Amino acid sequence: MKLIIASNNAHKLIEIKAILGDHFEEILSMREAGIDHETIEDGSTFMENARKKAREIMEISGCCALADDSGLCVDALDGAPGIYSARFCGRHGDDPANNRLLLEKLSGCEDRGAHYTCAMALALPDGSMLEAEGYLYGKIAHEEAGSNGFGYDPLFYLPDHGCTAAQISPEEKNRISHRAEALHKLVEKWEQR
Ligand code: IMP
Repeated sequence: MKLIIASNNAHKLIEIKAILGDHFEEILSMREAGIDHETIEDGSTFMENARKKAREIMEISGCCALADDSGLCVDALDGAPGIYSARFCGRHGDDPANNRLLLEKLSGCEDRGAHYTCAMALALPDGSMLEAEGYLYGKIAHEEAGSNGFGYDPLFYLPDHGCTAAQISPEEKNRISHRAEALHKLVEKWEQR
């Protein structure tokens, strides 16, 4: 069976292909499948957005479609920036400004608990949907450290590693990530279906 990934993010494609490669004959990005489509992410949860993206690409392609939605949830900010993580500062994808704003909002705050969430949805041509969520727990550091990773990684301190998510190797990040956990749970559901 063919799987289309509702993303063109090279980073995610490599990670997803490594975990799902044995389960599908062919795994293609939207670009590789010749699909040019942007889903309006207007859901109120990560899973609503992932579900909507997966369903739209499945309907366009007629193939299985996998979509994810992820972000950072900070305890002291009642779960913000959450589904607005990519545009916390008001501009989409401005990671340095997002990180500055996060530090500003937590200035003087002792409660630094946070987690990344990833919602994965796999839409099947018969109209059914498999869903799974994964999490990565950590703390928001007081200053940025490291240059690996992306997004909030330079501020996302991993107590078990004693450093930020931008200071561990890409391989280690992919091993422990919220995306990896969601994907592994999805594989289990795929095998049991
Ligand atoms: P997306 O849903 O994967 O596009 O992620 C949305 C936003 O959440 C990104 O732009 C980042 O700001 C943040 N985010 C999600 N996952 C990660 C991660 O693993 N590291 C750092 N930031 C992340």
